[in-house]
Amino acid sequence: MAGFGRTSQRRLDSCHEEFKIVMPLVIDQLPYVDHVSNRVIHDCGIICGYRDEDEQEEAYRLGNSKARFGQSLHNTDPSNACDTLPMGDGKYMWNDRTIHAAYARLVLRTAKEQGFDWKWGGTFKSFYDAPHFERIL
Ligand SMILES: [Zn+2]
Repeated sequence: MAGFGRTSQRRLDSCHEEFKIVMPLVIDQLPYVDHVSNRVIHDCGIICGYRDEDEQEEAYRLGNSKARFGQSLHNTDPSNACDTLPMGDGKYMWNDRTIHAAYARLVLRTAKEQGFDWKWGGTFKSFYDAPHFERIL
């Protein structure tokens, strides 16, 4: 069992229990062949779990989040949102929408199998938020 690297694991530790259950099950399925796109996901990492006030305001300033502190599901402790992306050659795949959709199918299906219904930021109307998964509260 490969598991996440230390940084990803520390970020995952700040997330709600549901993410701590599902994300290790996701990594256990890699390499994963997505039969809709025929793309293979080899690796993935956790970009962000909980964001404190400084981190949320910084994300807002940089345009990585539309929310001020207190308005994001990343600001609850534990975090009700988890940002995660597939990786290739050790780098996050920020710009490949086909692989984002493939990864979202894997993550959302794995969550559903555990009885959890999550939303993916790639289907938000306001802002394409590829790495973002959140609980429905
Ligand atoms: Zn997010």
